Amino acid sequence: MNILVINCGSSSLKYQLINSESEEVLAKGLCERIGLEGSLITHQAAGKEKVKIETPMQNHTLAIKQVISALTDAEHGVIASLDEIGAVGHRVVHGGEKFSTSVIIDDEVMKAIEECNDLAPLHNPANLIGINSCREIMPNVPMVAVFDTAFHQTMPKKAYLYGLPYEYYEKYKVRRYGFHGTSHDYVSARAAELLGKKREDLKIIVCHLGNGASVSAVDHGKCIDTSMGLTPLEGLIMGTRSGDIDPAICDFICQKENITPAQMNNILNKKSGVYGMTGISSDFRDIENAAYAGDEKAIAALDAFHYKVAKYIGAYAAAMNGVDAIAFTAGVGENNKVGRSEIANYLGYLGTSMDEEKNNVRGEDRIISKDGSKVAMLCVPTNEELAIARQTLALL
Ligand code: ADP
Repeated sequence: MNILVINCGSSSLKYQLINSESEEVLAKGLCERIGLEGSLITHQAAGKEKVKIETPMQNHTLAIKQVISALTDAEHGVIASLDEIGAVGHRVVHGGEKFSTSVIIDDEVMKAIEECNDLAPLHNPANLIGINSCREIMPNVPMVAVFDTAFHQTMPKKAYLYGLPYEYYEKYKVRRYGFHGTSHDYVSARAAELLGKKREDLKIIVCHLGNGASVSAVDHGKCIDTSMGLTPLEGLIMGTRSGDIDPAICDFICQKENITPAQMNNILNKKSGVYGMTGISSDFRDIENAAYAGDEKAIAALDAFHYKVAKYIGAYAAAMNGVDAIAFTAGVGENNKVGRSEIANYLGYLGTSMDEEKNNVRGEDRIISKDGSKVAMLCVPTNEELAIARQTLALL
């Protein structure tokens, strides 16, 4: 069966068509500037050149129509007609406390996703629009929602409750949810596979280090803690997000700079992280280049980033009373051997040491710690689209 995987943002839409038997990506692409001037679809069929087509896409329904026409195009297409799409898997960012697994989408599920809009106002409404558009165009094709938060729903109360008046949890569901769940699930399962063991027998720490970054503790197959919180702002220092700070800083800066809490929130999400710390870029490659050239702020930002990851690893080793494997994934985690090595330098006390030769790897599944290392370290490229396709198939 061919499964169309959709990741819909407010003005963009990423897609992949995956054959569920071979797990081959038949085609993938991106619609950009939906609803804006100069909208554009970039489409690539497996083994063929990328094509960019500028075409008006006033809304997401028109964008999906463009995706279907690219997929069925005589020249760039990979299927003859819509009938060859057996199911659609949708990435949905927030499932609140309602969804602890993926689900087949029906009207009730749509309503429940909508009820989580408050918790992810930038993401969930866009995800819903994408689902509605697909349902309109493919009314008879089964659709599945795969939530970023679902994998973390196994966290115990002690991990998800904040030290706040309990009424905020009761009234507004203010608690830790965690994100990147599809990636933490996929990578921890793959790490166990690479080690030739069952995930249910292992204590695994997953470091998803991309533009957005989070760490999770996967204890015998279940997530018991993760660094992102009510929103994806908490935890590690990220590309543009601050991660953990003293909450009193918000009021302090608001008063000093005469700005509103909403403006402060924008600064914490979009103008902080390594970007804010250096004034250079949110891209870790740029920060690394600046650090090599001796830029002191870039050196300090990278040091702070690595240190914070190592602190979370220490915390989660304590939370699980031990750790068997530490897996690095996402843009920085998969590609940056120096970053992995810097983090590993903090971890000798766990009985692990990096094999620098094995660590010389980019975007490949590999054990990167020394043979006989008490705790294994691994590089595991994440593949959220494949994970969504697998979960879609499993539900059908
Ligand atoms: P997201 O999905 O959150 O946007 P990604 O997982 O794609 O993020 O990661 C993007 C980050 O990965 C960027 O900061 C980029 O600099 C970093 N990255 C990608 N490739 C490399 C590389 N070869 N070396 C170092 N960093 C890299």
